[in-house]
Amino acid sequence: MFDNIDRTDIEQLGEFGLIEYLTKAVELTQPSTIKGIGDDAAVLDFSGQKMLVSTDLLLEGIHFDLRYVPLKHLGYKAVQVNLSDIYAMNGKASQITFSIGLSSKFPLEAVEEIYEGALIACKKYGVDLIGGDTSASAQGLVISVTSIGYAEEAKIAYRSAAQEGDLLCVSGDLGGAYVGLQLLEREKQIFLENPNIQPDLEGKDYIVERQLKPDARKDIVELFEAYDIKPNAMIDVSDGLASEILHICKASGVGCKLYEEKIPIDPMTYETAREFGLDPTVCALNGGEDYELLFTIPQDQYDKVKNQLDITIIGYITEQNAGCEMISKSGNVHPIKAQGWNAFSKEK
Ligand code: ADP
Ligand code: MG
Repeated sequence: MFDNIDRTDIEQLGEFGLIEYLTKAVELTQPSTIKGIGDDAAVLDFSGQKMLVSTDLLLEGIHFDLRYVPLKHLGYKAVQVNLSDIYAMNGKASQITFSIGLSSKFPLEAVEEIYEGALIACKKYGVDLIGGDTSASAQGLVISVTSIGYAEEAKIAYRSAAQEGDLLCVSGDLGGAYVGLQLLEREKQIFLENPNIQPDLEGKDYIVERQLKPDARKDIVELFEAYDIKPNAMIDVSDGLASEILHICKASGVGCKLYEEKIPIDPMTYETAREFGLDPTVCALNGGEDYELLFTIPQDQYDKVKNQLDITIIGYITEQNAGCEMISKSGNVHPIKAQGWNAFSKEK
């Protein structure tokens, strides 16, 4: 791996040299960042707002496969999936820390690419990189990102605050990242069998990007602010719609009705799922990594969301005893079950 790029051994630089080299392009823009990289700890000041913190661990072979994930995309995605958790609280993301464990197969150039992607994401989302940790790893690449943000206490959207009668809404469209993954897996298999065949992803940009280069929905949180929409409960869709709906319902002690025909699925996702013999609805329900926002709003806010092109009302919240159910396109009622994407059971 990495034979096609120049190789500089990380050992030549040493740990401090590496950190300095990787972080030389870091710029701080958030007023809440008092001190970033360079001391024993960063210093932040949220002047009265509540602080939000979320962290994720990404392991090579479990969460990503470097045979088809470009390193720059990996750095970008590692940041985005973390910011998504801050937006899912209806908060503003302001800082991240970025930590890496590197096995000896990684030359400096590879790490640099990861950082390039991470810094592109930071810049695009106005987030400061304020620290991290760097270590050797016995095997494979490890990335851990912690995201930090803030929100007014009254605006924070917990999973546990859905109310009976709320409208169940989702941003964007679903299932694309999962179908994109199927496509990449297929091309990987073809490549492994015959390395002379180049991947054929022609015309599939949207779903491949949904998988490799997701964008957290900062814009939806901004839209809430602009239109004075206050979601009662919210969660980001990382494990599939079904699993996230059940999280909200369980945490809130409510049930729900979900309408299959309302689930937003992009035409390319739909067609490609069909090509693979997959049910597009199942891809949306159980596929993961869409990083859209699933939320509930009181019915009296219907007028504020009904004309938002990027928000779809997919159902409503009921009392707990009514259960969590999906009404299929043909009118049948099915209990919603979480199959979700689960790193512990991922087939290899
Ligand atoms: P310590 O020994 O106290 O853990 P380090 O030498 O690991 O300190 O880190 C020195 C500074 O560099 C700290 O501000 C730390 O946050 C930052 N840093 C270390 N690794 C990274 C990294 N991978 N990305 C960004 N900043 C880093
Ligand atoms: Mg350290």
